[in-house]
Amino acid sequence: MNCKTYGLVGLGLIGGSLAKALKRSQPDCRILAYTRSSETLRAAASQGIIDEVCHSPGDPKFKECGYVFLCAPVGANIHALEQLKDSVSPSCILTDVGSVKTEIHEAAARIGLEGSFIGGHPMTGSEKSGILNSQAHLFENSYYVITPTSKTDESRIQEYKELVSALGALHIVMDYRQHDFITAAVSHLPHVIAAALVNTVHDLDSKEEYMKLIAAGGFKDITRIASSSPEMWEQICIENAENISQVMDTFIQLMEQSRTAMIQGTGSEIYRAFERSRDYRDSFSSSPLGSIKKTYRIYCDIVDESGAIATIATILAVNNISIKNIGIVHNREFEEGVLRIEFYEEDPSLKAAEVLKQHRYKVWIR
Ligand code: NAP
Repeated sequence: MNCKTYGLVGLGLIGGSLAKALKRSQPDCRILAYTRSSETLRAAASQGIIDEVCHSPGDPKFKECGYVFLCAPVGANIHALEQLKDSVSPSCILTDVGSVKTEIHEAAARIGLEGSFIGGHPMTGSEKSGILNSQAHLFENSYYVITPTSKTDESRIQEYKELVSALGALHIVMDYRQHDFITAAVSHLPHVIAAALVNTVHDLDSKEEYMKLIAAGGFKDITRIASSSPEMWEQICIENAENISQVMDTFIQLMEQSRTAMIQGTGSEIYRAFERSRDYRDSFSSSPLGSIKKTYRIYCDIVDESGAIATIATILAVNNISIKNIGIVHNREFEEGVLRIEFYEEDPSLKAAEVLKQHRYKVWIR
């Protein structure tokens, strides 16, 4: 990976995080950036996140870049792509971070940039937005989808993969249409459902708001994403409407089946639906699929008090065991919830289980 000059258009949560992550992984790199407002540019320059300010996506300074990342909303990214066409060098890789890929790929083809454009989607983020919420470690251990065009050179894909790895993320290469169908099912529909679920409770709650009062772990877990930016989700739903609508058909059909089974009292059918979902959900991240890394998990019973997670993290750290992910899970099996700890390798997962058992924790290996 030789590129040392990066360009950014848009410096919000993702653009700001990308600038910070690039600086962290390559401290001697240069970052040139343009964004809509001068306040954001000033804030980024004063914090040392960027080295130079560009005044538009057509700024000739972008010629110095080996990569230009488009990190604004998709409409603005397409507009920037048109302007960048004549302001970047032929060897520059133009890429974006948008959550939906079809529209920008079609735009790249229309503009004649299929050889230089490679789509990208870091599968990370948060409900928060703006440069103030950006973080250098946002991409760590998350998947980063790369969507080349039919004219992308293999060497450029390889180079992009190395860059993604340097950010601490896991690359997956796929066709942009496949990306949009997959994300419709695993990201976009869940946001629509979370919003509908929260709105259902809002509409049905009593004036004392008892539903809101007693909504517990399970409800909060599956509706956390309902707090995401309405502007961003309006755009995503419109851009990927066809795919979302297609996966929604299957979802609605399954909801109808559940309702019919409940009304008719067909217990076996209800049981089968929960059994099927439990088995499939439990198999997530436990089978290696192509370049997707297998994850090794352990579960650890903890008492519900402040510092409990920190104690476990410290025990593992002093034993030189690094973890991929850590978080509380609430489900029927563990009732009040346990700590799920994920690792990339089997050895550290087994060592962690051993060490925690020595500290008298109850541990399950899955
Ligand atoms: P964000 O925090 O709201 O930031 C958007 C940035 O784009 C801001 O810096 C904004 O400028 C800039 N911008 C808006 N309109 C512009 C224009 N016309 N020209 C130039 N810059 C413009 O949003 P974000 O969460 O970073 O999302 C950015 C992109 O990342 C979107 O395409 C989204 O689909 C994708 N994405 C988001 C997530 C997520 O969880 N948030 C995850 C993966 C991918 P100012 O600051 O100057 O106003």
